[in-house]
Amino acid sequence: MNTLAAVTSCLSDYDPNALPLAHAKRILADFITPVEESETLTLRAALGRVLADAVISAIDVPAHDNSAMDGVALRGDDLPDVAGKSYRVVGAAFAGKPFAGAVGIGECVRIMTGAVMPRDCDTIVPQEFARIENDRALLPAGVKRGQHRRFAGEDLKAGAAAIEAGRVLTPSDLGLAASLGIPTLNVKRRARVAFFSTGDELASIGEPLAEGSVYDSNRYTIYGMLTRLGVEAIDLGVVRDDPAALEAALRRACEDPKIRADAIVTSGGVSVGEADYTKEIMQRLGDVAFWKIAMKPGRPMAFGRVSSNGCSAILFGLPGNPVAVMVTFYALVRDALLRLSGARYCELPTLTAICDTPLKKNPGRTEYQRGIAWRATDGWHVRVTGAQGSGILRSMSEANCLIVLPHERASVAVGELVEALPFEGIV
Ligand code: AMP
Ligand code: MG
Repeated sequence: MNTLAAVTSCLSDYDPNALPLAHAKRILADFITPVEESETLTLRAALGRVLADAVISAIDVPAHDNSAMDGVALRGDDLPDVAGKSYRVVGAAFAGKPFAGAVGIGECVRIMTGAVMPRDCDTIVPQEFARIENDRALLPAGVKRGQHRRFAGEDLKAGAAAIEAGRVLTPSDLGLAASLGIPTLNVKRRARVAFFSTGDELASIGEPLAEGSVYDSNRYTIYGMLTRLGVEAIDLGVVRDDPAALEAALRRACEDPKIRADAIVTSGGVSVGEADYTKEIMQRLGDVAFWKIAMKPGRPMAFGRVSSNGCSAILFGLPGNPVAVMVTFYALVRDALLRLSGARYCELPTLTAICDTPLKKNPGRTEYQRGIAWRATDGWHVRVTGAQGSGILRSMSEANCLIVLPHERASVAVGELVEALPFEGIV
């Protein structure tokens, strides 16, 4: 197991009070080791899970040379010359019903898409270029030897890795496995992630809202983000601002046999001005650092490992503000939990968009603004969703992307290009 000290010693300029986001990401990646256990699931049940062992193809796909078009198959040493040529049709080949006979000079075979190439043929003339009457086919000049033929193994060669380990399985992966005749896949067990909110001011749904209270929204955004990530989300409720309650909740997440979390995500209680007992308890239970990350929103954060009676879990102590929770989750926790789940690192695609609102920013921290991106005739545009306070969750709900302003960037004028991280993807 890595210690934080060992991991951070690789960074020459580690400063927990002004930690660039890129450094924080690197520390998380170096500190976390993926879950080891795996299980075997049927193809459909494996959708969205992390592949534990590479899928190796036992067969060539396709298994035979075959036709890419409906048309006629002929010999490559018997193509029509400039005047075209009339051939005798000696049979037909359908997908699943090959033509077993021989094809001589001056002969051809009618063939459908996917049908196995007849033994002597290597060239296809598509239907629309062939004039077929009874048992004669008139073929035009200009046919290229080997055209419209699909080769055995051109999709996949026997013995090749069809899907790499660490892949989060998509619909096309299920189809690919099915095309190899593979009924089950070995996937990593899902990472178990316990989460709770902290704060004396928090009311849960169903409780009356006392003066000065707010409903706990973080447990719902966190639940949603964890579930979308494909981990097992375990809700441990609201924990009061009380040292004994915090310690009990962390210990329970680690060691309760019904929980045994691989990771714990908490919100609130790590900002400046919060009682110091949070730090004291988290550090007493393990190896935890308190960071001020050079990012906005979401500066304060606790990270490390806590343990109780021999059971340990990675800890992400997120800020309390609802938007800061979501942004730190997407900026940091998401990649870390994917790594914990055994998934290979995969950069999220961004849009380059013309910014239609001026954005104030100082170099020296990474900023995330909630944006609405849309496609115009001259490409993608983006604007911010209005007030960007880190408590304004509605602005997150209205947004369809996060505008990402990198560490070194200064203010953005209208018309400049920015990167936007879209919320939706097709798979
Ligand atoms: P904290 O980081 O605990 O100081 O919280 C910062 C702000 O976020 C405060 O205004 C809290 O009331 C608010 N907050 C903390 N946790 C939650 C939560 N679970 N749901 C909604 N707001 C919260
Ligand atoms: Mg609090």
